[in-house]
Amino acid sequence: MIELPIKDPCDLCVAAREEPWKIIEESEHTLTVINPWQFEVGQCCVITRRHVATLLDLSDQECNAILLSAKRVAEALVRTYQPLGILTFQNNGVYSGQETPHFHFHVVPRQKGSDWGIGPPQLATFDGAGREKGVSHEPSGDAQRRERVRVSAEQLAEAVALIRSNLPA
Ligand SMILES: [Zn+2]
Repeated sequence: MIELPIKDPCDLCVAAREEPWKIIEESEHTLTVINPWQFEVGQCCVITRRHVATLLDLSDQECNAILLSAKRVAEALVRTYQPLGILTFQNNGVYSGQETPHFHFHVVPRQKGSDWGIGPPQLATFDGAGREKGVSHEPSGDAQRRERVRVSAEQLAEAVALIRSNLPA
């Protein structure tokens, strides 16, 4: 049984409804949004329009749409930031580091000097980017890290405009 994080109201549903400036691109089943936590400049998420929690809840149409949207924004990120690599990841349940109970697929441009290894930032807080068996992710320990990567709404909106301008036709 996958244990889900609890967040009420859901921050991704709120962003989709009330913060349209965070949206880089929309499709029938997905929204591509800027991640308010810029662990890497330009990092985005593809989220489902529906409020569903994990990979296991997706329809076939949503599965297809998510990867298509991820590829499109990855192309835009390459044009915008000339990253050294693109990391994608997705968490299902608190034991995998999921913090919001709404499906989101991370698309992250990686640059030289990044301090979170080859995995997601919450895994980098564990020695060797590993994890003790049966330990859930406790996000409050990330406070310092999050403070460092917090950027203003204006900076986020600028990144959204820039990335959007580089989406493939
Ligand atoms: Zn939601």
